[in-house]
Amino acid sequence: MKLLVINAGSSSVKFQVFEMINDLVLVSGLIEKIGEETSEIKFELENSGKNNSVRVVEPIKNHKEALQKVAGILLDKENQIIEKKEEIKAVGHRVVHGGEKFKETAIINDEVKEMINELSSLAPLHNPPNLQGIVVATEVFPQAKQVAVFDTAFHQTMPAKAYRYAIPNKFYEEFGVRAYGMHGTSHRYVTKETAKFLKSDKLKLITIHLGNGCSMAAVRDGKCVDTTMGLTPLAGLVMGTRGGDIDPGVLIHLGKKYNLSVSEIDKILNKESGLKGLTGLNDMRDVLELKEKGDVKAKLALDVYTYRIKKYIGSYAAILGGLDAIVFTAGVGENSAYVREASCEGLEFLGISIDPSKNDKRAKGIRVISEDENRVKVLVIPTNEELEIARQTFSIVQ
Ligand code: ADP
Repeated sequence: MKLLVINAGSSSVKFQVFEMINDLVLVSGLIEKIGEETSEIKFELENSGKNNSVRVVEPIKNHKEALQKVAGILLDKENQIIEKKEEIKAVGHRVVHGGEKFKETAIINDEVKEMINELSSLAPLHNPPNLQGIVVATEVFPQAKQVAVFDTAFHQTMPAKAYRYAIPNKFYEEFGVRAYGMHGTSHRYVTKETAKFLKSDKLKLITIHLGNGCSMAAVRDGKCVDTTMGLTPLAGLVMGTRGGDIDPGVLIHLGKKYNLSVSEIDKILNKESGLKGLTGLNDMRDVLELKEKGDVKAKLALDVYTYRIKKYIGSYAAILGGLDAIVFTAGVGENSAYVREASCEGLEFLGISIDPSKNDKRAKGIRVISEDENRVKVLVIPTNEELEIARQTFSIVQ
């Protein structure tokens, strides 16, 4: 069965086509700068051998035109992906916020669309373009089932004591103010890969997703019991441009002191904090390079970043009541031996100890970086959110 996976942002659409036999990717691509004169279409044909990368610059007015371009790429005879649109049996959509309504992946109908729209108040930057992607994909691929895979769904198994904030009840009751968590598709994917790799569903796990956004999850027997992000992606770990946990009083204090508006505070927290706030740079590679040159601010930023991870490892080991494995994933988690080492340093008393020779090796696929005799397995698992969306979509339409 062939499936299309779509991740629609405000001015971009990412897409992949999977042949679900063997999880084969037939094409993956990205359309950016939608609405501008210089929109960019990039795609790679995964099974055509050499010269498989294409880049075109042309104006693309809106998401509908972008999806029509995607259909054109898929139908192009030279690309050998599909001969007619009907071969795409389903379209799996990444949807950021499913609130408390969506605990699972859902087949999209009018009611589901309405609910995704209502949940825009919780994810104003993400749900509207996700919904737009759904609307135009339904027009361009009318024969396909449309499926929504929610970033928050994996975290819906958290108990109330983990997701409720100790603020007046009415804010939860009237506006759904509670922790929802993000990156759920990635945490779910690496959880399942870990279960396969360690040949057990009964595991106490900590999954650590370190990309531009960063989050951790405590997972018991495949189910999330806590996560670091909250109502919004601002909570928890230090990230590229977000600082994670902060005393809420700081915002009151700064607001009063500098007479800041809510949108100014929003900008400071979302765009100017994290690694960027501490070093001026938001890309982890640049921060690591600066640290190598002896830069004191970069060293401090890395200390704050890895100390926070360590603090949550301890906290999650406590709530899980033990630990079988820790999984590092996403751009930083998969690539930075330094971050992994510093985050786990000094945790031998919990049975966690990294073998430097395994940690430093660069390799593709799943690998164990803990010392052999260790109780806790420390793993590096490349995440694959698109594949997880395709698997969820496949399983629900079957
Ligand atoms: P996104 O959250 O956008 O999906 P990624 O998972 O691609 O992000 O992660 C992006 C982050 O990964 C960036 O901070 C980047 O610097 C970092 N990164 C990528 N490669 C490396 C590397 N070799 N060493 C350290 N960090 C890396």
